[in-house]
Amino acid sequence: MHETIAAPAWVMLAYLVAGVCFIIALRGLSSPESSRRGNRYGMIGMAIAVVTTLVHYAPHMPGQTGLAGLDLRFVAEVAAAIAIGAGIGLVMARRIAMTAMPQLVAAFHSLVGLAAVAVGAAAFLNPLAFGLTDAATGLIHVNSRVEMGLGVAIGAITFSGSVIAFLKLNGNMSGKPIILPLRHVINLGTLAAIVGLVGYFTQDQAPWIFWTVIGLSFAIGFLLIIPIGGADMPVVVSMLNSYSGWAAAAMGFTLQNSAMIITGALVGSSGAILSYIMCRAMNRNFISVIAGGFGGGDVAAGAEAAIDRPWKRGSAEDAAFLMKQAELVIIAPGYGMAVAQAQHALREMGDLLEAEGVNIKYAIHPVAGRMPGHMNVLLAEAAVDYEQVFELEDINSEFARADVAFVIGANDVTNPAAKTDRSSPIYGMPVLDVEKAKTVLFVKRSMGGVGYAGVDNELFYRDNTMMLLADAKKMVEEIVKSMG
Ligand code: NDP
Repeated sequence: MHETIAAPAWVMLAYLVAGVCFIIALRGLSSPESSRRGNRYGMIGMAIAVVTTLVHYAPHMPGQTGLAGLDLRFVAEVAAAIAIGAGIGLVMARRIAMTAMPQLVAAFHSLVGLAAVAVGAAAFLNPLAFGLTDAATGLIHVNSRVEMGLGVAIGAITFSGSVIAFLKLNGNMSGKPIILPLRHVINLGTLAAIVGLVGYFTQDQAPWIFWTVIGLSFAIGFLLIIPIGGADMPVVVSMLNSYSGWAAAAMGFTLQNSAMIITGALVGSSGAILSYIMCRAMNRNFISVIAGGFGGGDVAAGAEAAIDRPWKRGSAEDAAFLMKQAELVIIAPGYGMAVAQAQHALREMGDLLEAEGVNIKYAIHPVAGRMPGHMNVLLAEAAVDYEQVFELEDINSEFARADVAFVIGANDVTNPAAKTDRSSPIYGMPVLDVEKAKTVLFVKRSMGGVGYAGVDNELFYRDNTMMLLADAKKMVEEIVKSMG
């Protein structure tokens, strides 16, 4: 261990309190009821960490000590930078459409990666100021070199990977997997070179090694993400989220900042767990997601084949009539509800039905929509009662006693092919058992419009299914009107 610039006890304590706030925040975010409180704890923790860092690291006026002696110009400059950044973040977060959230998250991760590279570069260029040099030799401590090397490598991968993820999700780049010849050889070779160079950096702190690590890491981030198709992109975003955490944790060691180490480790591990949960819910293998090449290929395969089959069309009046007669209606929302922004109208419909004595429940599939928690967020935005919202495993057994399953803009997450058809791309994914309800109402715009996996849904042609073909919001508004 090299000697550390010991932080005063109050700083350590403040960082610890910030760390505890972050842990409570994560705990709170695990359920919709407590998520607002969780968010608040996160904000408090971050405020404590930022103010502590600012006060602790701000220089003093010549010959002065204590709070009163702080160089206020420095404090004002940093505070102005924070205010500008916070202002941009606030405007972006307010303007962003819910459906564009994944790309916003990807864009923010790219900044975390870039910040880690910038901090690493600053530490490398001025190690003395960061307290990273050995007094006897004047060289950078070996363990600091490891932390710096790993931090900038992960940061650079996060940056370029997130930029590609953003471009793909935002439609600036094709969502199709771009497969380079020999990509596995190139990727493994580049990764080996990065690891080798970080190892060599511990022996020799020559600048070329440091900058080559950064250059190769930018390249590998790019190479790793371009072969990954659109469907797997949200998993990639949560994986990059995890990387950005590890990059921050590595930089926390370099800066000897315990708040950054704790926060980085929390982000790193929660991102990794989320990637794993998403892969499981989509029945995708994590390694094959990372290896890439899925999720853009055969979209719409088999979609047209079934259009000729007979199916039943219903109207808003039919739907209103059926649901008013029902005892239990289970609403299964999906991506189409998000696109149509139908959640408010949907809540109104649910409220009207409840007033008629109908029991209303919402069934949430873990990967309904296009990002984890997508449906929960939208329903919360429309002030749907949390008590009515159920996860897949808690509600699936109830479809059998439901009179109506009202499927709104969901497709893949209801497709029974996931249970029966081994050749289906979604085979093995747990799905909502909507077909067990007495009547299934499907709200979507067309018969041919497939879901993310690009496969037809046999439920559209069943006897107990009625198709309500329209934009989700318009259809629900009409149903509400017919109920009046
Ligand atoms: P799907 O993508 O399977 O289906 C969406 C349906 O909504 C389509 O059938 C479409 O049909 C309909 N739709 C689209 N726009 C509208 C509109 N304006 N009004 C009414 N209907 C509309 O959605 P699901 O939520 O069922 O499934 C999610 C899929 O996304 C799964 O395959 C999942 O694996 C994948 N995924 C989910 C992620 C997540 O984290 N949640 C991440 C990555 C992938 P039509 O065009 O006819 O209207």
